[in-house]
Amino acid sequence: MSDKKEIAETLSGCTEKIFYDEPMSQHTSLKVGGNASALIVVENEDRLIQIIRRLREAEIAYLPVGNLTNVIVRDGGYQGVILLMSGLNKIEYQQIPGSGHFIYAEAGASLARVVGISDESGLTGLEFCAGIPGSVGGAVWMNAGAFGREMKDVIAEVSLLTDCGRKVTLPKDEISFCYRRAVLPEKAIILNARLKAEKGEQGRIKEKIREIMELRRKKHPLAYPSAGSVFKNLPGLPAGRLIEEIGLKGKSIGDAEVSPQHANFIVNKGNATASDILTLIDFIQSKAREERGVNLETEVVIIGEDQCRRN
Ligand SMILES: Cc1cc2nc3c(=O)[nH]c(=O)nc-3n(C[C@H](O)[C@H](O)[C@H](O)COP(=O)(O)OP(=O)(O)OC[C@H]3O[C@@H](n4cnc5c(N)ncnc54)[C@H](O)[C@@H]3O)c2cc1C
Repeated sequence: MSDKKEIAETLSGCTEKIFYDEPMSQHTSLKVGGNASALIVVENEDRLIQIIRRLREAEIAYLPVGNLTNVIVRDGGYQGVILLMSGLNKIEYQQIPGSGHFIYAEAGASLARVVGISDESGLTGLEFCAGIPGSVGGAVWMNAGAFGREMKDVIAEVSLLTDCGRKVTLPKDEISFCYRRAVLPEKAIILNARLKAEKGEQGRIKEKIREIMELRRKKHPLAYPSAGSVFKNLPGLPAGRLIEEIGLKGKSIGDAEVSPQHANFIVNKGNATASDILTLIDFIQSKAREERGVNLETEVVIIGEDQCRRN
């Protein structure tokens, strides 16, 4: 159990950017979720190292997050400290003689900026990130991907803070990747990544980004809050198609709805709670099991407590 007083005492003097009992519904892209005991906007690496050391010593739970576009926080909230990495947002084009062209980005930088800077610098290879609303740290952790490419195809190296406060840099070949997950040391915090790109032709790069954004606007229900694809695709069968085939497009519980536009998206039509969304997820999984004998695994990360806390 970590309450405000314990966290305040533990982190005394570490940061001013700390918000207690912070409603996560104001931060998640789905606009749901109870309160976090505390949320810290991480300002720089030195402060982060100090914060982690103190939280570890006090055995207070913590979780690094980027833009919270792939996280569902349960209605009972998160008992611990959410570390919002948005203050670590430096990003630059690097040309390294003999090695090639890279975008170096800190974990809190948005993928939108990665795409923007690679476009401005005439670099190709990162266009697939266009329209993914996450941060670099979240995208690396999730091995985010679209249109046949994933982060693993572009990562050159990743720097981490291990849970004992040590900084390490792992080259790509020391990291395993699987479907929507990079296998990194438990509790590691991604600090930055160097992404590989190639010199390209500016007109073509712009055109590719435009096409991708156009496809996303057509395919995705962007008018409502969502967390993108909820379920992992099955081998040879996109989860959205399966959900459509078992008749659940448009199915709703409270204000949570299986998008009529793209069945792997659950949208918040206004006042959905995390519980509405999670009940809908359970319902879809049960129906997929009963009717097709398959297990639909969630791609979204689910955190927090079910019941409202009583302090
Ligand atoms: C409209 C929409 C479209 C989307 N389209 C796609 C798509 O095409 N492809 C795709 O793959 N995803 C897609 N997503 C999902 C999401 O945007 C991606 O998974 C994205 O990479 C998550 O980044 P984030 O910064 O929001 O991570 P968060 O949601 O904040 O976190 C996700 C996970 O990463 C961990 N994490 C975040 N930052 C760090 C860090 N610095 N160190 C360690 N762990 C960290 C968190 O603890 C959590 O477990 C979409 C989402 C939406 C809403």
